[in-house]
Amino acid sequence: MADDPFENMLAQMDRAEEYADVDRDIFERLKHPERTLKVTLPVELDSGEVEVFEGYRCQFDSARGPFKGGVRFHPSVTQREVEALAGWMSWKTALVDLPYGGAKGGVICEPKDLTQNDLESLTRRYTEGIRRMIGPETDVPAPDMNTNPQTMAWMMDTYSMYEGHSVPQVVTGKPLEIGGTPGRVAATGRGVSIVTERLFEYLDRDLSDASVAIQGFGNVGSHAARLLDESGARIVATSDVTGGAYDPDGLDMAALGAHVDAGGLIEEYVSGDPRALPEDRRTSGGNQWDDPSQITNEELLALDVDVLIPAAVEGVITAENVDDLRASAIVEAANGPTTVAADEVLTERDIQVVPDILANAGGVIVSYLEWVQNAQEFSWPLETVNAELERRIGKAFDQTINQYDQKELPDLRTAAYTLALERTASAHKYRGLFP
Ligand code: GLU
Repeated sequence: MADDPFENMLAQMDRAEEYADVDRDIFERLKHPERTLKVTLPVELDSGEVEVFEGYRCQFDSARGPFKGGVRFHPSVTQREVEALAGWMSWKTALVDLPYGGAKGGVICEPKDLTQNDLESLTRRYTEGIRRMIGPETDVPAPDMNTNPQTMAWMMDTYSMYEGHSVPQVVTGKPLEIGGTPGRVAATGRGVSIVTERLFEYLDRDLSDASVAIQGFGNVGSHAARLLDESGARIVATSDVTGGAYDPDGLDMAALGAHVDAGGLIEEYVSGDPRALPEDRRTSGGNQWDDPSQITNEELLALDVDVLIPAAVEGVITAENVDDLRASAIVEAANGPTTVAADEVLTERDIQVVPDILANAGGVIVSYLEWVQNAQEFSWPLETVNAELERRIGKAFDQTINQYDQKELPDLRTAAYTLALERTASAHKYRGLFP
């Protein structure tokens, strides 16, 4: 199950079906993506070689509006993974009530092995490959794993060159200079931090001094860590592909953030390599950091903490390791980090899980706000964007909790899925079957 995210997504839907008010025939339609395009991408690399890459764009469901979802660059991308992620986007946009369907794109590549020129060529070739499928009113890509505002700028430019005029609205997550919105880069992490605070309010627990372990210190994990640290929580562990840093007294978020922003790895941070220290903190007296110990990603998941936040890849909490987990709550910043087999154990153990389609929806919410500003040809200040993000994700959180309490559902994922599936099914019912 862990290695097939699509099966996992279907199993999550099945788990929710018995509680969802959805016609059987519509439910069946929701299990199939509308279409997936596979593109072959020959790219001339800086090395002079031509390498042939493979990419996908899956458009999963459009009953509620244009397709929406990110593009990921990763060696482990597969068609099934892209389709699962596109399904999750559909349930996410429905749950947070955006006028969108769900989509996802992916390119099989190792970005670390590519130069900036290579990445530009690959992005432009991929955009050309999918450009007949995307558009401001049809399908709007955004950043995901290993893609960023620069990637979106290349996509927007390539699409616009073919159209003959600038079309900023075709992608979201753009740099500010070409129609991006303030607050988009931190939005997913900000949403994670908001729902964690809401969860603590709901559980009647105090977030200040609660211990938090975050697997992954990329765009999502790092902003979530910074904002939760600002709210008074203690970030005791975080990690990247090289492993984790652990300090029960709390990691120094400023030092760690500066280290990672400068391109440093967690492993170097733990080993205390002085070159990794921000300049103003270097002293001849040695390491002035907090004194974290090295842990593995597996050990991080098993830490005895108040909140565990998986913020990396899917399928990390599985039937194999779920019994080792000691966290009292899980907030899923990554897409699909928990397998259904593990979910059943977490529900039995009464460990609250804020599901991915709610916890990490901050990114797509602010993508929507960017798209709206582009349509209006008007820009909003950061405070307006952040307030609107908080209002929207807070409302979705409250609706999920109400659904969970009123219908006495087994867990928050089932509550979130029943809402998302009912909303999408209702759109299908109104629209009917055509042709
Ligand atoms: N890739 C992000 C996600 O998984 C954002 C998608 C978007 O902004 O369209 O939710």
